[in-house]
Order: sequence, then structure tokens, then C-alpha cells
Amino acid sequence: MKKNVAEIISVCNEIYDKGLVSGKAGNVSARFGNVVAITPTLKSLSNLDEEDIVLVNMDAEELTKGKPSSEVNMHLEIYKKRSDVKAIVHTHSPYATGFAFSDKKLKRLEGFGEIKNPYLPFIEYEKPGSNELAKSAVEGLGDEDVLILKNHGVVCVSDELKEAMLLAVFVEETAKTQFISLMLNSTEDD
Ligand SMILES: [Zn+2]
Repeated sequence: MKKNVAEIISVCNEIYDKGLVSGKAGNVSARFGNVVAITPTLKSLSNLDEEDIVLVNMDAEELTKGKPSSEVNMHLEIYKKRSDVKAIVHTHSPYATGFAFSDKKLKRLEGFGEIKNPYLPFIEYEKPGSNELAKSAVEGLGDEDVLILKNHGVVCVSDELKEAMLLAVFVEETAKTQFISLMLNSTEDD
């Protein structure tokens, strides 16, 4: 477990350094059987210690001291529904979240594997930390690995923590590329 907690911290540092989360935003978790290790509430992901990571059971009961992320229910609901998911990374990545605050959908670009749907799935806004958000996120995610939360941010899931983090990085790159192309297409040629 110690190694896994260290991995969560390294993923947090990486998404913070890449600018996918700032301030005290964002949360990361990993599941080990019926125990979920999750980042704490009201702390920046930039400099967490191992003892900051909170262990909870599937009923959100704390097994260690500390208070889990306010989105713990969203994480748990996804794990309960998706036995294949072992890690969840939730970011407020600026470009992807910019799309989430607009009426523009994010296209799936190459790198997302088989393209079933031309756009990344999204759900309408629900209050952060609410049970409504947790429920809606599970439904919206379906069997996909990325979900856009309208007026909020991005959720990426995987069977491996590093993969979920790399997916979050890729979603942000994709959003940046689409933002640039939208800007260029909207300007007149001289
Ligand atoms: Zn959030």
C-alpha cells in the first residue's frame, strides 16, 4: 500500500506541475480491492505527504485519519459500477474545462483508441461534491474512460493510475489543439 500511496502522490505532483489542477482543486484515487486511497479535501495536490492520503471503504467510511476529497462519492460510485476501473483522476484542466464552460463539444482525436463516438461524453452541471453529480457521472461515463463535467472539469478512469493521469494529459492536449484550430478557423485571412 505504501508504494501505491507514493504513486498517487507522484501523479498529483505531475498533474499539478502540468497545470491540470491548481489551488486546492482536483482529486485522485486508486482502488485496492475494497479499499480506495484518495486525496484529501481542502489541500493542494502540489505537496501532499503520504499521511495526507485517506483510505476509505466502499461505503465512504474513513479507515485512516483525515478527510477524503469532497468528490469521494463520485469516485466510489464509479468503482462500484466499473469493476475494470482501478484509478480515477479528476482535473480542472484549463482548456478542457474551457470547452466544458462553452457550448462547444470536445472531439475525440487520434489516440483515444477505437472511435465509437466522435465526441467525448459529457454530463450537465451538478453541484460539485453532490450525490447528484456522483450519480450522473456514473451514467454519463458508461463504459468510456473520459467524461467532461459541464461547467466543472474532467474525469479520466483507467485500470492503472499512471494511465489515468496520461489520459488526463492527453485530453488537455486535445482540447488545446481544438481551441487553437477553432481560433485559426475563426480569423479572416489577410
Ligand atoms: Zn472538481
